[in-house]
Amino acid sequence: MYDRFNRKIDYLRISVTDRCNMRCKYCMPDNNNIQWLKHKDILSYEEIRDITKYLVSKGIKKVRLTGGEPLVRKDIEVLVHMLAQINGLEDLSMTTNGILLASFAKKLKSAGLDRVNVSLDTLDADTFRKISSLGELNDVLEGISIAQKTGLNPVKINCVNSKYNTDQDIANVKAFGEKNGLQVRVIHQMDLAGGIFTTVEGGQGGNCTSCNRLRLSSDGRIFPCLFNNQSYDIRKTGVEKALALALNNKPKKGYNNQNQSFNQLGG
Ligand code: SF4
Repeated sequence: MYDRFNRKIDYLRISVTDRCNMRCKYCMPDNNNIQWLKHKDILSYEEIRDITKYLVSKGIKKVRLTGGEPLVRKDIEVLVHMLAQINGLEDLSMTTNGILLASFAKKLKSAGLDRVNVSLDTLDADTFRKISSLGELNDVLEGISIAQKTGLNPVKINCVNSKYNTDQDIANVKAFGEKNGLQVRVIHQMDLAGGIFTTVEGGQGGNCTSCNRLRLSSDGRIFPCLFNNQSYDIRKTGVEKALALALNNKPKKGYNNQNQSFNQLGG
């Protein structure tokens, strides 16, 4: 399928929850004022499967599960299994903060997950804790190692270049990646409301000219663009109409998003 600027749209990022077991300063800065989505508004696994099946029948080939933190959603491997059965879906991946990955890797692989991206901004335990407020660096490193051994390959690293880490931190993560056969992508800190974003170093994100993605939020809205306020509520219009509206209103390039936070759209 194509949008109005003739960009081929074949990639769907699904935020399965806005919840997370970390509080990264550049994602959830204000720990006390987080407006969580109500559980009753969250899509069931069956709803996510049916929406994805329809979107795959229209041209989506790649699906990435995001959050918040996808591994905090109960029985996430059940959803992975459901999606892995969809004919025409060529690539099923997940972005995780890695805290729970060590205990989930095997289940995810056998459920049908192809690969994972793991967030890692530093190899210094104190800096890690300063950025994330919760969680242990060693759990993430163990998760990465077990994911590789389990075959969730290629394991890629998402390293956010923010005011909370240094060039040396990023250089260390890159060296760690080289040494362990991990592709490291550097994501420069983004600001949704301020409309600040750049292309991802070592990845495809942030390149509006060839943007191929749509986002599905955990409460059932299709977002044509991360840096735009528009979204189309599937529960109100039905998936067919929501998709058509998203393709016809996808902006040429991102601007800003005043209504959402990263934990609601999964970056
Ligand atoms: S800002 Fe919007 S159009 Fe640009 S790459 Fe991101 S999602 Fe695509």
